[in-house]
Amino acid sequence: MLMLTPGPVQTHPTVRAAMAEDIAPWDAAFRPFYTRLRERLRAIAGGVEGVHVTLPLQVAGHMIMEAAIRTFVPAGRAVLIPVNGQYAGRAVKLGRLAGWQVVELPVPDSRGVTPAEIEAALAAHPECSHVAMVYSETGSGIVNDPAVIGPVVRAAGRRLIVDAVSAFGALPIDLSKQPEIDTVIFTSNKCLEGLPGFAFAVSRIDSCEAAVGNAGSWSLDLADVWANTKGSGMGTLRFTGPVQALRALDVALDRFDAEGGQAPRLARYRANADALYRGLKGLGLTPYVSEAEQGPIVVTFRQPPGLVLADFVEGLKRHGVLISSYYTSNEPSFRIGAIGDVGLAEMAKTVAAVQAVLGELGLQQAA
Ligand SMILES: *Cc1c(COP(=O)(O)O)cnc(C)c1O
Repeated sequence: MLMLTPGPVQTHPTVRAAMAEDIAPWDAAFRPFYTRLRERLRAIAGGVEGVHVTLPLQVAGHMIMEAAIRTFVPAGRAVLIPVNGQYAGRAVKLGRLAGWQVVELPVPDSRGVTPAEIEAALAAHPECSHVAMVYSETGSGIVNDPAVIGPVVRAAGRRLIVDAVSAFGALPIDLSKQPEIDTVIFTSNKCLEGLPGFAFAVSRIDSCEAAVGNAGSWSLDLADVWANTKGSGMGTLRFTGPVQALRALDVALDRFDAEGGQAPRLARYRANADALYRGLKGLGLTPYVSEAEQGPIVVTFRQPPGLVLADFVEGLKRHGVLISSYYTSNEPSFRIGAIGDVGLAEMAKTVAAVQAVLGELGLQQAA
C-alpha cells in the first residue's frame, strides 16, 4: 500500500528495520547515540551550539505544542495565534484548556498570514508576550513563513513559537538568524521520514532558563527537560520513551543527508505536490487553495458534488493508495500528502487511482 497521509508518512524499509532491537535507554551505550541524534536535529534547525538545544519529549506533536506554550508563555501574559487552519485551531484549544490566555487572529484558511496582520494584532494586544504560528498548515496545505513573520514579532519586542510539525526537514528554518524564536517544534514522523514516537523542540537555552516554573506540569515542561540535560547530560532521557523510534529516526536522518538535506528534500516534495495539484486539476477537480498559496506538503481539493469521503478513501485503497479518511479544511475537501519516501512515480499512480475511483463511483461528470 502506498501511504499518502500528511504524517505519519511512508518510510523506507531500512528505517522500519532499525526498530527491531531491544534497547536500554539508560545504558551508557545508548548515550552517545542519543547525544549525536539531538545534535543532528539542532543542526537542521540552524541552531547554534551553546545557544540552542534539542529537547525531546516522548509525545505527539500536539503535546509538544502544549509543552511549548506552557513553558515559554509566562503567567499573566497571552499568546497570539493566527488561525488559518485547523492545526492552528487545535493550538488555540490546547492552550486554553491548559489555562493559558490565547488571542485568536482569524485568517481565511486559503492563504498565509501577512506580517501586517501580525503587526496590527500585536499592537492591539500588548498582553501578548508571544506569537505561536503554524509553519505548514496541514489543514489546507498553505504556508505561514516564519522568516517573513519573525522580523515583525522581533520589532514588536515579542517572542515566537513555531509549530513546524509538518514543515521541519523540508521547509527551511534558520534559528541562528531568528533570535526572536524561543522554540521550533516538530516530530519524528513527517518530513524527516522517521516513525512516530518522539517530538522535539529545538529551543533557546536562555529562554528555557527564564521559563523555570512556568509550565504547571512536570511531563510537559521543556524547561525541566533542559534542566535534566544540564544536570545529567545530553545522553539522558527523563522518562522511558519509545527509543526504537530514535533508532529509526537516525537511519532516516542518514537518508536525509544522503539526499542532500533540506533543499533537495523540499524540491522533491514541491515536485510531488505540483504533480498532484496539476494532475487532479486535470481530472476536473477544484483545488482548495490557489496555486500561489499551495504549499509543498499536502494538497487539498474540494469534494466534488455527490462524493462520500469514506467511499472515495475505500476505493483508493482498492487501488493501493491510502489517504486521510477525514478532512481538515474549513469546507469539505480531501487531502493527499506529498511527503514521505515517495516521488513522481507514486504521484502518477495516485492521480490514475483517483481517476479510476471517480469513474467507479460515477462521479466523473460531477468532477
Ligand atoms: C501533524 C501535525 C501536528 C501534530 O500531530 P500529532 O498527531 O499530534 O503528532 C501539529 N501541527 C501540525 C501543523 C501538524 O501537521
